[in-house]
Amino acid sequence: MQTQMWTVDKNVDNLKTYPQINEAAQKLKQKEVVAFPTETVYGLGGNAKSDDAVLKIFEAKGRPGDNPLIIHIANREQINSFVKKVPENALRLMDAFWPGPLTLILEKKEGVLSEKATAGLSTVAVRMPDHPVALALLEASCLPLAAPSANLSGKPSPTTAAHVADDLTGRIAGIVDGGPTGVGLESTVVDCTSEIPTILRPGGVTKEQLEEVVGEVSADPALKDTNQAPKSPGMKYRHYAPNSPFYLVDGNREEIQQLVTEKRNEGLKVGVMTTKENSGFYDANVVIACGERGRLETVAEALYDTLRAFNQEDLDIIFGEIFPEQGVGQAIMNRLSKASGLPIIQK
Ligand code: AMP
Ligand code: MG
Repeated sequence: MQTQMWTVDKNVDNLKTYPQINEAAQKLKQKEVVAFPTETVYGLGGNAKSDDAVLKIFEAKGRPGDNPLIIHIANREQINSFVKKVPENALRLMDAFWPGPLTLILEKKEGVLSEKATAGLSTVAVRMPDHPVALALLEASCLPLAAPSANLSGKPSPTTAAHVADDLTGRIAGIVDGGPTGVGLESTVVDCTSEIPTILRPGGVTKEQLEEVVGEVSADPALKDTNQAPKSPGMKYRHYAPNSPFYLVDGNREEIQQLVTEKRNEGLKVGVMTTKENSGFYDANVVIACGERGRLETVAEALYDTLRAFNQEDLDIIFGEIFPEQGVGQAIMNRLSKASGLPIIQK
């Protein structure tokens, strides 16, 4: 399959009237799948009502069929056709964070969306993205779009059109290139079907921000305890993995350097994932700074690009610094732990 590339300037007015957006929307109406930027990461969109389109998303990504997709919308009225009821807490969260990096789990009306999109669950995940290109495409296609991240399953999520092209060229109908994404991490997923809203996946909106709007918010115990089954099916899978074993280290930079030196003395090629503050300190084969520790949002923004950059190097092992689990640090550590898939080395 030939993958078409449409380049758009996200800052122009009235994007939905641009030919690039209309061509991409046309593909979506024809049940093809198209990648597009959101404020979190690039998404791979398809008509959420069509089994054919949704199947193409799963096939292109190699995504397990039991991992449901987030349904993207451009306006709230769209929800009424496929959601049973919107509880008070969910309404408040929508008012506060939509459009934005917050996905809400709500009770689903049967028979409207493709069963494959929701993996047969009685609930549905919905979000309104805060990106002019995503919103223009949603409006031009007049469809709710099922859209997971536009990467091969298991690889780091894409934050540029080039990342998408690396993974999916030849597998999808097209890519709308609207420049690099902003937040860099996927949306926060919050289950609003329980009395107390529950975070199933940490993300761009922090627990502290949610609590300011709805009071008490809980978190799926499986986020801390790996022996428990996660409430969000996708959280059980390994994600974002670099090609080499990736160890997170709870220790200071001298202790991390000691590990690096030991491995290099064994003849291994060693990488270190650090931040700007420490990047001059390490002596390793490859040292990559992922944002600034003092501004965690810059770490979030650079995270997936950094994980992909390590894949360009032929390394035997990578060591990474950890981050405090506060604010966006929770989502960063969640993604880093998934990328590693190994116990944290305690120093
Ligand atoms: P992605 O599309 O890759 O950003 O992942 C979407 C996340 O939302 C995955 O972890 C899914 O398992 C989760 N998700 C989607 N729909 C539901 C649902 N109805 N209930 C719980 N989690 C969901
Ligand atoms: Mg994903």
